[in-house]
Amino acid sequence: MTLPEGGPPVKRCTHCGEEKPLDAFPRDRDSPDGRFWWCKTCNNAASREYYARKKEEAPAIVKPPKWVALTCETCGGEMRYRRSDIESRKRRGGPLPRFCSPRCRGRAQRRVAEPSRARRG
Ligand SMILES: [Zn+2]
Ligand SMILES: [Zn+2]
Repeated sequence: MTLPEGGPPVKRCTHCGEEKPLDAFPRDRDSPDGRFWWCKTCNNAASREYYARKKEEAPAIVKPPKWVALTCETCGGEMRYRRSDIESRKRRGGPLPRFCSPRCRGRAQRRVAEPSRARRG
């Protein structure tokens, strides 16, 4: 950053391109020089627009669901899993959960196992 000698420090607004004294920029803790990229004039206009648009859009904002619903193969009950958990399972090529509880899994295995064990001798 080059400051003009003798004069007050100025900054170029990245929005309107005008050089203005630092005081014309809103404070911004995240910025390296402690000032926002846009001058107050641009910032006010933009935020007014932003809030106007936000107000219009507000009811339409839908967050992506965080949970995925799967159905238990034994009891048909709904199981909720974290979406990130399901996605990481898929990425690893692992099986998706099929039963809501160890009991349901056990029942499903018994159901498969029973016919082959039935009356062999
Ligand atoms: Zn500006
Ligand atoms: Zn179940």
